[in-house]
Amino acid sequence: SKPIVAVVGRPNVGKSTLFNHLAGQQISIVKDTPGVTRDRIYAEVSWLDKNFTLIDTGGIEPETKDIILAQMREQAQIAIDTADVIIFITDVRQGLVDADAKVADMLRRSHKPVVLVVNKVDNFEKLMPDVYEFYNLGIGDPIPISAVGKLGIGEMLDEIVKHF
Ligand code: GDP
Ligand code: MG
Repeated sequence: SKPIVAVVGRPNVGKSTLFNHLAGQQISIVKDTPGVTRDRIYAEVSWLDKNFTLIDTGGIEPETKDIILAQMREQAQIAIDTADVIIFITDVRQGLVDADAKVADMLRRSHKPVVLVVNKVDNFEKLMPDVYEFYNLGIGDPIPISAVGKLGIGEMLDEIVKHF
């Protein structure tokens, strides 16, 4: 069956924007029900001659800072358990934050293939210097993209399908 690619990252980094772009449509997010397994959103994606199933583990994003890390850990664990490749998304505007480092540690220990993506690089020339700090996560080369500007998407997809 088709490889599964899961998207993880902090609230507001652009997971849904990227997901909807790759899905080729707006896919509305179903509300979580307390006590029930977190909803996952699926899309079928093709790149060149490769097909894969993309999963957004985000669901409804928490608004309380205290539970952001807990939810990120939960998302990352779902991705580790179910995905063949994990897209870990960070935000160049926010920079590297502690929660990113903690989730990166989890992903590294899982030995699953991880594609590290730095989103909101809307102007490559201006913002590339800010991308380099993400090397410090120790999970590989950061790939700059702009999900809104649709920049770097092909390079990101090339990296993803290399792992199939
Ligand atoms: P999620 O919480 O990770 O799913 O993030 P969303 O996809 O909901 O995006 C959060 C906010 O970031 C929205 O206002 C998006 O329009 C914005 N955003 C997403 N991608 C980009 C990008 O590439 N550049 C900029 N400037 N904003 C972006
Ligand atoms: Mg979202």
